[in-house]
Amino acid sequence: MLIDMHTHIGGAKVGFIMTEDMILKEMEKYHVDYCIVSNGDSAEFDHELNPLPEEFQVSQKDSFLRTIQFARENPGKIGIMPWIKPATEGMNEELEHLIRENIDIVKGIKVHPFHSKTFFDSDRMKPYIELAQKYELPVMSHTGGCEAADAKYVYEMAVKYPKVNFIMAHMGLGTDNREAINLMEKADNLYADTAWVPVSSTIEIIKRFGSKRIFFGSDSPIDGVDTYHCNREGQPSMYREYFHGLEDVIGTEAYKDLMYRNAMEFFGIELPGY
Ligand SMILES: [Zn+2]
Repeated sequence: MLIDMHTHIGGAKVGFIMTEDMILKEMEKYHVDYCIVSNGDSAEFDHELNPLPEEFQVSQKDSFLRTIQFARENPGKIGIMPWIKPATEGMNEELEHLIRENIDIVKGIKVHPFHSKTFFDSDRMKPYIELAQKYELPVMSHTGGCEAADAKYVYEMAVKYPKVNFIMAHMGLGTDNREAINLMEKADNLYADTAWVPVSSTIEIIKRFGSKRIFFGSDSPIDGVDTYHCNREGQPSMYREYFHGLEDVIGTEAYKDLMYRNAMEFFGIELPGY
């Protein structure tokens, strides 16, 4: 049994090749039972933090609708997180309406402070977090890569909104994860995923905080259909370590928590036979 709670479609305008078909292929090839998907088409700024030109912007609504369609076409396999656009659009009635109508498949709200060039603790984020609180949804933020996406701002919002659960995706991408791990000590509603997180950091989180506050997530299919195995140049993926050897280190119960059980409980995912 395997749940990947951090996968993507879209993002072509910022150079990613990630499609619905790729997710379905990798699920079959690597025996993934369920994925939570967000749509990179919501990126507002490019990798150099320049605003994407108007004609490259996909609306928050259209980006969300694409994920809804994907989930509806694949019942029981795909959950979604709307990837919001706090910089160029902001929270609106339309977004709330779509969340309410699709609450059975919406598993959280996704924000990318880097590609939105928006500090996670800014006023533009607050209406979204209040929306998450209203619908009892977690908020997942990309962390790392620029000041606005620093994990400490996710922590600050976790303190300000104690009833909302927050997930620090990547645990500070491009860092040694120390800051993000230490922040988990100070707020019980702060969670982590494993996307590009070395297995050593995951082991430390489980040792320090138990096995309930981290989920398996991968960013796939960012490196292609074989993201779990290798990148596009064929170099081995760090995820191999999650599939081979980790269970022996952390034990079977903690491993089940990490790879699917936490996600089932936390996101309310029901899978036949479990
Ligand atoms: Zn991602």
